[in-house]
Amino acid sequence: MEDRLRYVSTRGQSPPLDFADVLVAGLATDGGLYVPEHWPDLSGAFERTVAAPGRPYADVAVDVIEPFVGDSVSPDDLRSLVVDAYDQFDHPDVAPLVELGGGMWVMELFHGPTLAFKDYALQVVGRLFDHVLAQRDQRVTIVGATSGDTGSAAIEACRDREALDIVILHPHGRVSDVQRRQMTTVDSMNVHNVAIDGTFDDCQDLVKAMFADTAFRDAVHLSAVNSINWARVMAQVVYYVVAAAKVGRGGPVSFSVPTGNFGNMFAGEVARRCGVPIRQLVIGSNRNDILTRFLRTGTMTMEPVVPTISPSMDIGVSSNLERLLFELMGRDGVAVADLLTRFRDDGTVSVPVDVLAPLREHFDAASFDDDQTRSTIASVLAEGGPVLDPHGAIGVAAGRACRRDATSPMVCLATAHPAKFPDAVEEATGSRPRLPGRLADLMDRAEHFVRLPAELTEVEAFVQSVSRVPSVPPAKVVSPDRGTSR
Ligand SMILES: *Cc1c(COP(=O)(O)O)cnc(C)c1O
Repeated sequence: MEDRLRYVSTRGQSPPLDFADVLVAGLATDGGLYVPEHWPDLSGAFERTVAAPGRPYADVAVDVIEPFVGDSVSPDDLRSLVVDAYDQFDHPDVAPLVELGGGMWVMELFHGPTLAFKDYALQVVGRLFDHVLAQRDQRVTIVGATSGDTGSAAIEACRDREALDIVILHPHGRVSDVQRRQMTTVDSMNVHNVAIDGTFDDCQDLVKAMFADTAFRDAVHLSAVNSINWARVMAQVVYYVVAAAKVGRGGPVSFSVPTGNFGNMFAGEVARRCGVPIRQLVIGSNRNDILTRFLRTGTMTMEPVVPTISPSMDIGVSSNLERLLFELMGRDGVAVADLLTRFRDDGTVSVPVDVLAPLREHFDAASFDDDQTRSTIASVLAEGGPVLDPHGAIGVAAGRACRRDATSPMVCLATAHPAKFPDAVEEATGSRPRLPGRLADLMDRAEHFVRLPAELTEVEAFVQSVSRVPSVPPAKVVSPDRGTSR
């Protein structure tokens, strides 16, 4: 079909696919990430949202998502699954905006089932997955790595769904109690948690290695819903459109985003490329500041990951930056692959000034340590603003530090509910935030997980043992001395 949007790999070696195939594949076979062959025009969806300030979030979502999905899902099916997804949120606006004063705004992206922004995409993506797989009479095994929130959001999006099994790896002892319990207390036959002895990057490397193991990948029909999946980025574009329309009323708006893997931030860049009037995009980092250093110096250097009070941003490498590099390097997949190979091999790589210059026209970045994060939580509250979580506080701190134009509004994304990080918030404010009603008994529920070393063969054996994909040979027994708790 002429107008069907197809997707290409950022490493240029995989054939173009349509939306449904990209959704199910996750990572491209050449190791790259999928991006649309061209950027669709979202100015119509934006204008319709400006013209109708009370427009329901789900209506905007259908408008924004439709051009990316093409004919992979019928318009009626898309509408009903999007409406159902945002029915799970506990605020009538879904993503409410709070003014801080002086044209600074906070967008609360924590009104979904797991209280973090990842719900905004994953509640849609889980339903899209189930829908597309049912159409094809297929099953998949979803494997993901989480530094905290992706895991619980993915589990909530996939739990109990017939066509999916989900295995989530988290770094043992490096996610908060609330984050871990939101994953490990889900008692569903298709949900499997693995605590890896290692860092988040170890977990992410294991996931990448499983995808690179073609025989394994085919045997369990491996798929991903972490932020490398294009559908997640796509669904995140929606709240940029909503915020820009409400706050800017047609004029330019800036965004400040607490970011780690660059998935949320890249959705803002997509909105901009698709015609939403975005003036400035601000990257907020914690001490794991590879993005901030890259923007300042043009050099990307791997550093050891340091634990912070904003653990969902404790990463050493930002996967989604690859999508931006692909754009900046003129969509030359071979050049991108070469750059990333050098980065892998040497732990450092520099991009030429002419590649970075267009980026610096609208991107800024700032990083903050834990003390600065806590003092931002305290000062925003003292000024009459909302109680922020540490990630949202970094968003606000970065927005304040980097704002270029005081005449156009700046929207800071608050990516988690403060009750997900009660210790940090209590230290900053003196009072402990309470979990909302639906999670009130979280700390009393039973946990289920296995603990494994950061060894590919062991992790693959476990995944194979739980996958319900029909081609898989009889399940291997997982020995109890690996820490099996279910
Ligand atoms: C995942 C997460 C982030 C970082 O998002 P990226 O898309 O990886 O940049 C920020 N804050 C919270 C609360 C998160 O869960």
